[in-house]
Amino acid sequence: MRGVLVTGGSRGIGRAVATAFAEGGDRVAVQYASRREDAEETLRRLPGSGHLLIEADLGEAGAPERVVAEAVHALADTGGVDVLVNNAAVAPSPATRHPVAEVSLAEWRAVWRRMTDVNLLAAADLTWAVARHLIDRGAPGAVVNVGSRGAFRGEPEFPAYGAAKAALHAFGQSMAVALAPHGIAVTSVSPGFVATERQAAKLAGPEGERLRQESPFGRVGTPEEIAAAVHFLASPAAAWASGTVVDLNGASHLRT
Ligand code: NAD
Repeated sequence: MRGVLVTGGSRGIGRAVATAFAEGGDRVAVQYASRREDAEETLRRLPGSGHLLIEADLGEAGAPERVVAEAVHALADTGGVDVLVNNAAVAPSPATRHPVAEVSLAEWRAVWRRMTDVNLLAAADLTWAVARHLIDRGAPGAVVNVGSRGAFRGEPEFPAYGAAKAALHAFGQSMAVALAPHGIAVTSVSPGFVATERQAAKLAGPEGERLRQESPFGRVGTPEEIAAAVHFLASPAAAWASGTVVDLNGASHLRT
């Protein structure tokens, strides 16, 4: 049984990831930002026992190291945290749209800073804290980052999102090299469009059919498909995949 810390687990991909680890017999610390009821629903759905919730705005100074300390403390019976999944993100939404030709410099700056703080710098701090905990314990482990297809395909209306996800992929690759001597594998997944609660209105609206047709499968991805890959990448069997960025986009965007 491992201790697993999943960020952004109140719903969507984070909830599915937490569920996949709990189904595999692990104990899960689920960080969430503000949707307490949703987070409690995630916790209720997790099979097994010993799971917990941790509330934090990861964009606030000191939050990432506090989250890791709380998770390590709560999961101490099983050794602490063995796996970190960096899933939380300020994602594309009408509130975070910032096309260069339309927004003011003040709006542009605000979104760039918020997306960088939460989507990149918080993941870096969480990774530092979990890596040092694993190194101190002399224990192997895994970090899996949830990146995005947008890092490769471009995000014209959300350039800070695309840039932060590209940086997250690159950060994961640097960490894979740095942490391999300590037996810690670091990987990223790069999902295309996934049918989460956040995306439900888009999928039901006039854009829905176009989004489904981006993939030759004629559909979008499911949170469970992302979670299955994350769960595998965090397993000892996948240690040799360390450094990879796995495309999970139904062949909607092929990298060369
Ligand atoms: P979501 O908005 O439901 O999940 C994002 C999670 O991050 C939420 O639980 C939210 O509470 C958390 N979060 C946001 N700001 C935070 C903050 N300041 N502090 C702490 N937590 C914070 O969306 P989702 O679709 O489930 O996305 C999950 C991950 O998958 C994100 O990293 C997203 O970028 C990535 N992704 C999603 C899609 C998609 O189409 N759904 C595609 C590619 C990548």
